[in-house]
Amino acid sequence: MRPPHQPSSPYHVAVRDLPVTRHVDVAPAFVAEAVAGMPLREALGDEHGPVVDGGEVDVELTADGDTIFVQGAIKGTIAIACSRCVTPMAITFDERVRVTFVPAAELAPADAAATAEDDGVELSSDELDVFPYADEQIDLAPLVREQFVLAVPYAPLCREDCQGLCPQCGADKNVAPCTCTRPADPRFAALAGVKLPS
Ligand SMILES: [Zn+2]
Ligand SMILES: [Zn+2]
Repeated sequence: MRPPHQPSSPYHVAVRDLPVTRHVDVAPAFVAEAVAGMPLREALGDEHGPVVDGGEVDVELTADGDTIFVQGAIKGTIAIACSRCVTPMAITFDERVRVTFVPAAELAPADAAATAEDDGVELSSDELDVFPYADEQIDLAPLVREQFVLAVPYAPLCREDCQGLCPQCGADKNVAPCTCTRPADPRFAALAGVKLPS
């Protein structure tokens, strides 16, 4: 029995169509939703400067009984704030993915974790990526969302030697040194306790 409608989302793939390749252009709104709530994303507000969120998904889906294998590439760009100076910057990634979708009914999270431990088998991290599916339909969105979240480092830097903001006056020290940099200089700090003749 064929459902009367085609899948409505580009992230949805009907199991009956497998094997199939799928290309998805990741919309800025999708990225925004994926990284919403991350502090260095929230720091940007609506100002992303020249950085445009987005990405591309190119995957191949194959089936072995109820088990669906998805492999291919996911790449993307995310606007995020530099952790030192809060300037908008771009994170880009291009990841190979290889994950498995199994029917939701067969995936009891507790059981899955216990089995992986009991076996004592070293599984590489990509082999542990198992997603549930239901209604004979694969939803690629959680997989893609995860790649965007994982791509954001804990403390992104706009450049390795970013000078950051002055903790005293808030000036961006990449733009110009501020007048309050002197007391923070360790050489002057050492002199602070010394009484100079006036
Ligand atoms: Zn910076
Ligand atoms: Zn300052």
